[in-house]
Amino acid sequence: MNYELDIKANALDSFNEALEKFEQGEKGDNKAYKFAILHTSHFLELILKIYIISVDENLVFSKCYRHITKISKDKNISILESFEKLKQESFDLRTLINNDNSPHTITLDQALEFAKCEKCKTTEISFIDTDFCIDIEWIKGLRNNIEHFQFKLEPKEVRLCIGRLVRGAIEFLEIFDIMDLESEIGKDRLHIFKVLADEYTQLLREAKREVVEQKTDTFRGVRPKHYAFIEWNVYTCPDCSNHTMTPNQDSSTGYRCTYCKNEDSDEIEVQCDSCGAFLPRNEMDTWHMDDETIELRCCFCSGQYQAEKYD
Ligand SMILES: [Zn+2]
Ligand SMILES: [Zn+2]
Repeated sequence: MNYELDIKANALDSFNEALEKFEQGEKGDNKAYKFAILHTSHFLELILKIYIISVDENLVFSKCYRHITKISKDKNISILESFEKLKQESFDLRTLINNDNSPHTITLDQALEFAKCEKCKTTEISFIDTDFCIDIEWIKGLRNNIEHFQFKLEPKEVRLCIGRLVRGAIEFLEIFDIMDLESEIGKDRLHIFKVLADEYTQLLREAKREVVEQKTDTFRGVRPKHYAFIEWNVYTCPDCSNHTMTPNQDSSTGYRCTYCKNEDSDEIEVQCDSCGAFLPRNEMDTWHMDDETIELRCCFCSGQYQAEKYD
């Protein structure tokens, strides 16, 4: 059927456009996110319609959809059950749109409502993830605001939501055996697709981006010859092994991993309470003072004391 081929080509066009705009946004063009959102929501609308067509090619038309919704309300059954009932009765939905040359098609919400009825036979759990629906609602709201010029975008929030939607879409297309999205992506967009398709890759990319942004903020306006006076280091996090532990005011150790939020590492440099030198914490000696406080001593200060003691 031509309509189905058209709609698939359109969906992929929108998706490739969304990826392109996403990448432009990542490179600093914040306005591009607006188009990434519009293209992503268009893409979602189209893949949901493709799914509906895979159920029944007539169901994508409003008149047919309304017909089954009416039955579901009258009989108090789900729209999927209502549709299956009509099928059993060999009712041909096409008869409802025979005289219509350009019938109206259903909305994203309607398509999603139908898809939600598809449940696993044994667990009764819907195949559609609740979080996927929440993200779809979010991007739809954003799209409406964009269309009415009332929006304020938080780039990171947009990037993370688009990432979740891409992963949700991949899963959705796989569950209903509609298409293998990766094999349909243009070569020049594949690298950005792969980042979004994998949660770990995307979150790590965000964590690394935060490190770079923090560093830029810290050194902004500081003259290079004064760089040495700024106490700013990045450590490799012992918990997640990423090089993403940076200074953090809210952390008890003064550092926090931008990926896993861990705050502890023996490599964090601390100040010797005696001479003021900075050294990794695991190279410091802990001194229990008479007043029960604890002080840290570098090996030099510690050694000198020992020498004095045994003189
Ligand atoms: Zn970590
Ligand atoms: Zn010292």
